[in-house]
Amino acid sequence: MHEYSIVQSMLDLCEKHSKGKAVEKVAVKIGKMSGIEPHFLKESFEVFKEDTVCHDAVMEMELIDITIECQKCKEVSKVDNFNFYCPLCESGDTKVLTGQEMHIDYIVLKEDG
Ligand SMILES: [Zn+2]
Repeated sequence: MHEYSIVQSMLDLCEKHSKGKAVEKVAVKIGKMSGIEPHFLKESFEVFKEDTVCHDAVMEMELIDITIECQKCKEVSKVDNFNFYCPLCESGDTKVLTGQEMHIDYIVLKEDG
């Protein structure tokens, strides 16, 4: 599944950044348009974190709203229900600004290793 490979690369990143210390918390940002199911991601994390520096870590997720910029009137707005039309001038010529991303926001390491 998609989420598994994401978790694997997340754990690789944690391994790299932790320098041997145990990880306490992994905070991730998930765009609502990223195609990632937050609860699948969390489940996968719980399964794969065993035997890694993240074995005691909790995952904190923040969902990022979808925002678009109208290419006609430059209005920036939030997208609800996947309606990508500009609410101001009703143009369909819009560019997605946020909501497609998925990345680690920050990692908290345990002080005593
Ligand atoms: Zn517009």
